[in-house]
Amino acid sequence: MICKEFENWVLTKKITVPAVNPAARDHKDNCPACSKLYDVDHAVEETICDAFRQTDIPDSLYEQVETSINHLEKNTGSVLNYKMVISAILFFIAITAAFYTLNKPFRYNNLHQLSESAVSRHLQGSGELEFTADTMDSALIKMSKTLNFNVILPDLSAQHLPGPDYTLQGGRICTLGKCKIAYLVYRQQEKICSVFILDYDNLGFKMADGSKFNNEIKGLHTLIWKDRGQVYAMVY
Ligand SMILES: [Zn+2]
Repeated sequence: MICKEFENWVLTKKITVPAVNPAARDHKDNCPACSKLYDVDHAVEETICDAFRQTDIPDSLYEQVETSINHLEKNTGSVLNYKMVISAILFFIAITAAFYTLNKPFRYNNLHQLSESAVSRHLQGSGELEFTADTMDSALIKMSKTLNFNVILPDLSAQHLPGPDYTLQGGRICTLGKCKIAYLVYRQQEKICSVFILDYDNLGFKMADGSKFNNEIKGLHTLIWKDRGQVYAMVY
């Protein structure tokens, strides 16, 4: 390996994955200039990794950030401008972290919290419904687009609910706590029931498909279940 190749290797190797390259290691051990270059680059990477650790960036964004950093390093041409590179990278990480924090979905910590939120929303009343039962098919498509998750009608018959049938009246998009959700209104005789449909991303913990949670608050029953990747919270 010659110096030019070594420099190229240093600039293009992945930051988050330890680089193993015997040829590069041999060259570094025998070339003081490249050994220095490697140390500088290593210091830059340490700084970057520290910045990552201090920010709340999810793994999925990691690769995106790394790609941008590699691009930035290549365009800067040489790690000798490392102070400039570091400032630019730290700025980039800070912006990414801030953006992620602002757009981070609200997450419920447990199902008690969710059932309380569902009951208090139910007690506020349904308000005017945007969609009625006969336009529900197109409404589900519209709601899915707006909410960015697949809104599917709940399978109430599988929930072993008490009493006669529950009839869908209509629905709309609304907020539950800090989550944007699909809200469906059902009627069972004179009783109005609410079903809130949340994206699974709004739970800050794992919940298996098919699992259920029952609760009673202020004389109202709540039933929460997960089905086909969505979380349903029903108040009846
Ligand atoms: Zn060299």
